[in-house]
Amino acid sequence: MIDDPDFLYLKTINTYLWPVKLIVMKKLRFSLVQLIIIICLTAGQNIAVFGQDLSKTPTSKTMNETYPGGSFYQVQHYDQLKTRKHPKNIILMIGDGMGLAHAYSAMTANGGHLFLENFRYCGFSKTYSADRYVTDSAAGGTALACGTKTYNGAIGVDPEKKPVENIREKAEKKGLKTGLVVTTLITDATPAVFVAHVASRKSLEDIAADFLKTNIDVFIGGGAANFENRADGRNLSKELKDKGYQVLYNVSDIKNVKSGKLAGLTAQGGNPVMPERGEMLVPSTETAINLLSQGKKGFFLMVEGSEIDHLAHQNNASGVVMEALDFDKAIGAALNFAAKNKETLVVVTADHETGGMTLLDGDYKTGKVSAKFTTGGHTGVVVPVYAFGPGADQFTGFMENIDIQKKMCKLLGLN
Ligand code: MG
Ligand code: ZN
Repeated sequence: MIDDPDFLYLKTINTYLWPVKLIVMKKLRFSLVQLIIIICLTAGQNIAVFGQDLSKTPTSKTMNETYPGGSFYQVQHYDQLKTRKHPKNIILMIGDGMGLAHAYSAMTANGGHLFLENFRYCGFSKTYSADRYVTDSAAGGTALACGTKTYNGAIGVDPEKKPVENIREKAEKKGLKTGLVVTTLITDATPAVFVAHVASRKSLEDIAADFLKTNIDVFIGGGAANFENRADGRNLSKELKDKGYQVLYNVSDIKNVKSGKLAGLTAQGGNPVMPERGEMLVPSTETAINLLSQGKKGFFLMVEGSEIDHLAHQNNASGVVMEALDFDKAIGAALNFAAKNKETLVVVTADHETGGMTLLDGDYKTGKVSAKFTTGGHTGVVVPVYAFGPGADQFTGFMENIDIQKKMCKLLGLN
């Protein structure tokens, strides 16, 4: 847990600096409300400080190292047909924090099989950032989106804080349709790096405002509050509507969209984790693919299994398994399209590993998995890269995380 800069920052504020904060705020008058806040902060509960989520700290309440097993789903086999060398479309799927153990725990939980097994071309990505051996999602995401190593916390900017064009922007410029689908806030680091250019991942409202500067076709995730309940008084959802977007707030409405531009804001903050979230990622992915594939010049879509990371931070194996299974079903939706379409490259990877997770026992018959974690933060170990479709053979062996972006740009003919 030492290697996660977010964690350190929060721990410092949480553990040592709260009295200083109160004095600075001239609020050292102990009203009942303040007393409750102090009790919550010192107890390390899930209170958001400066827009951050303290649930990243594993507590005895969240730690759960066994997935008891559950129902299995059928995994379809898709043939890797190489009909062309260059893809017309790319679907990049990022399992935030999804190392090999996270994926294999889900595979065990589903009786030994996942959609992920359809990927015949696999490699490893070195995730270190410009300033740290252990990256955060902002620098890890910027590498995947912009092809640039940068400092932890950076969103779409280089170490000198200069904006770097991302692959979605390049694709948009070339006339491809583009989209983002995530389970957490659409303004969180992983989606943000495909849209925004800000010095800090904490500037959520600035990140939301950057969506208005793009011509993105579809984005679905949480974070409505960053668009509608803002310090500057702007209502970005209204501005999106004025630009021609359908702005929708629940998955049942999102599923019915058959054409046009779509902004799906399915929660004020992040969506809940599984199983509470329910069917959100898969139908959102299917809707996005359906809308984006209507373009003549191809598309670029990023889909994130965002909350694998959050539950690994909590050392919650059961949660990790459920999130990874949900992400695998979304991978299945992407493969289902790609196998029929034959012009789509699907790349699955992670921005980094979270939790230092490993597996001590499992049972393919019941789906039970026993895991151990070595940290409440991220680790520096390489993460797997899986590729399917035209150009998939480019993604084997060891590679830098920035090379994934460069390979995708080359395959799509983006400069
Ligand atoms: Mg993320
Ligand atoms: Zn994380």
